[in-house]
Amino acid sequence: MSVFHHRKGVLHAEQVPLPAIADAVGTPTYVYSTAALTERFQAVTEAFQGQKHLICYSVKANSNLAILGLFARLGSGFDIVSGGELARVKQAGGEPGRTVFAGVGKTPDEMAQALSQGLLLFNVESAEELEALDAVGRKLGRRAPFALRVNPDVDARTHRYISTGLKTSKFGVPFEEAVALYAKAKKMKGLQALGLDCHIGSQLTRTAPMKAALTKVADLYVTLKARGHALEYLDVGGGLGITYSDETPPSPQEYARTVLNATEGTGATLLLEPGRALVGNAGVLLTRVLYRKPTEARTFVVVDAGMNDLMRPALYEAHHDLQPVVKRRGRDVEVDVVGPVCESTDVLARARPLVLPRQDDLYAFMSAGAYGMSMASTYNSRPRPAEVLVDGAAWRVVRERERVEDLWRGERA
Ligand SMILES: *Cc1c(COP(=O)(O)O)cnc(C)c1O
Repeated sequence: MSVFHHRKGVLHAEQVPLPAIADAVGTPTYVYSTAALTERFQAVTEAFQGQKHLICYSVKANSNLAILGLFARLGSGFDIVSGGELARVKQAGGEPGRTVFAGVGKTPDEMAQALSQGLLLFNVESAEELEALDAVGRKLGRRAPFALRVNPDVDARTHRYISTGLKTSKFGVPFEEAVALYAKAKKMKGLQALGLDCHIGSQLTRTAPMKAALTKVADLYVTLKARGHALEYLDVGGGLGITYSDETPPSPQEYARTVLNATEGTGATLLLEPGRALVGNAGVLLTRVLYRKPTEARTFVVVDAGMNDLMRPALYEAHHDLQPVVKRRGRDVEVDVVGPVCESTDVLARARPLVLPRQDDLYAFMSAGAYGMSMASTYNSRPRPAEVLVDGAAWRVVRERERVEDLWRGERA
């Protein structure tokens, strides 16, 4: 049974009825399940049992301190893309020595901070960045441990906005240039080649693109070792998909089989960077109906969550299932569920069959644990939602609802 389920017609997170949370902290509110987070982390760990590996949870999927802390206690490392994320990892009790740092635009300051804190690995994305990292290393009298993120030119067969492994993508260095760059880096005193990295995209639902990319990258790893580079880590990136509606992504076991088959014989310690797969289905966004608005063309349901709170539908035309918190009997009508933001793209669910809600009814946008709150903004001067973490029959606020005074902090009138 899913940790989010209806019991006697009322949607629960584990043993907590969601109306109790909405009444206590208001809406919109993100609600996460400790059991779901733990179960997913352990499923991936078990799938890679017996293989030298480290899970580096991708912080940008959901960077709440309580979630980072939970993963740190479960033994996770972290995958970061900014100095701010490194600060969060440390604040939550995570270890820089189990953290890898990707991104095409790391600043020298961010590099220096991470290096002096003992970062495990810089995933470098360009020749100029490699030189900048070398300069930082020499200045600090250290060799910065790095992997090149290579671009295997494989179509991840996902939405083009979350595809990162094609030649035309801004990410990684061209596959063909990697050997020469490692050779060049060997002469640089501020660098130490320690691994090889790739990440071809997100919400991957098929194993074929993973297999194609990882086979190429594993071959390159073996070539580099044969050329005398003392690599230890093969970072296979993240990207494992989840079910939002009717997708059938690989299970953790199938995913592990694909990764292990493709990388067999490298002898590398695998670094895994799952984000969405660990948190996506472990969270929902609770919202309340404000108004119904039947027009000649459509029936709109206006809710108190908007695209600033959950950006994925506006940004990627993403689908989130919508569940009534209290089930209602009746016949389905087709509705557009929209938020209060003054933008035509502020449609959270389009043309959905739904028993026509009443004012004040609660709904939950499902599968909102990944790239929900971490992408939320204050557009239209809307304070960001509260976040709640459920554990069994208990729950607690893990981020207070933003206050309006927070909105102009640092501004000068
Ligand atoms: C975003 C990102 C991930 C995580 O992707 P998911 O699809 O959430 O698993 C992993 N690695 C890198 C480098 C990323 O940018």
